[in-house]
Amino acid sequence: MFNYPGNIHIHSCYSDGSGNFDQITIDAKSAGLSFVIISDHETLTGLPEEGVQNGVNVLVGVEINRSQNHYLALDLDQLIKSDEQNPQQVIDRVKKEGGLGFIAHPFEKGSRYIEKGKAYPWKYWPVFNFDGLELWNYTSHWRGRHPSLFKTLYYFFFNRKAAMDSPPREALQLWDCYNNNGHRITAIGSSDAHASLYKLGLFKVTVFTYRYIFKTINTYIVLKEELSENYHTARKQIIGALRCGCCFISFDSLYAGNNFYYYAKAGSNTVLMGEQVNFQEKLALFIKAPKTRSMLRLLRNGKIISEKEGKELKFYPEQAGVYRAEVYFCPRLGRPRPWIYSNPIYILPA
Ligand SMILES: [Zn+2]
Ligand SMILES: [Zn+2]
Repeated sequence: MFNYPGNIHIHSCYSDGSGNFDQITIDAKSAGLSFVIISDHETLTGLPEEGVQNGVNVLVGVEINRSQNHYLALDLDQLIKSDEQNPQQVIDRVKKEGGLGFIAHPFEKGSRYIEKGKAYPWKYWPVFNFDGLELWNYTSHWRGRHPSLFKTLYYFFFNRKAAMDSPPREALQLWDCYNNNGHRITAIGSSDAHASLYKLGLFKVTVFTYRYIFKTINTYIVLKEELSENYHTARKQIIGALRCGCCFISFDSLYAGNNFYYYAKAGSNTVLMGEQVNFQEKLALFIKAPKTRSMLRLLRNGKIISEKEGKELKFYPEQAGVYRAEVYFCPRLGRPRPWIYSNPIYILPA
């Protein structure tokens, strides 16, 4: 098994981000990323720049819709038009074109201290046929965390990690609900990086530089073979892993998620996230954390069924269900912090 970190949902100067692809990939390389997915608003202008740049695989998608119902679409070669009033149409068009679609920051709350409280949630429910959900979006989550100006400034200047408490509870519930009803939705974590420039008197200040934000919330793909050095093969591997849910989210500001593993063993067969296996005797689930001081959790159909402090958890399931893993980072002082969220392994009846 091989894990590769990537940053999803990045804005470049082709929409409202500040950097070009060269700057973005230099910063991605320095953050140790294997791939980036750039998804500018309502444009695929960057598509001809797909390839390996500065040692990083660059994929170009698009963020469709503007004032609400933002939808991230990947693996498209032509632009799908926005339709904010009927986002199911957008989802269906992306699917029809063979693309891969994710509902972006569905429960964004906004902050009255940032952009005058403007927020861009997903307002249209229920929808079907989408492939994934952006469970944890750094920029969006940051906005919604500030009950007062004092706290906003405190978090920003002194304790940015504390601003990220956990993915929104509503997003976790929604994800579990779709999965428990047979829809198999891939959860991703993203940055929504813009590296926006703000004027402060005579100075221009960049809030959350690409270099900074590429070490916050990342999505790791998990492959059975190494990521190819040939771009076209690597692109297929990355899209394939996201399409089937063979990936996990890590809040890398706490600690890099590189050595996280979650899989099932059925005899000599190894079952990865996003895959299914029929219930059988001696079927075992394994969670392995990247560091010893961790709290490991196994959930079945969204409910905790096993919890343990340490580095490894082994569990023999007794029934079919949707099984996913969570890992909490245990600091020397203070409470465990939400850190890693796996996609599920689906155990079917015998
Ligand atoms: Zn958005
Ligand atoms: Zn965005």
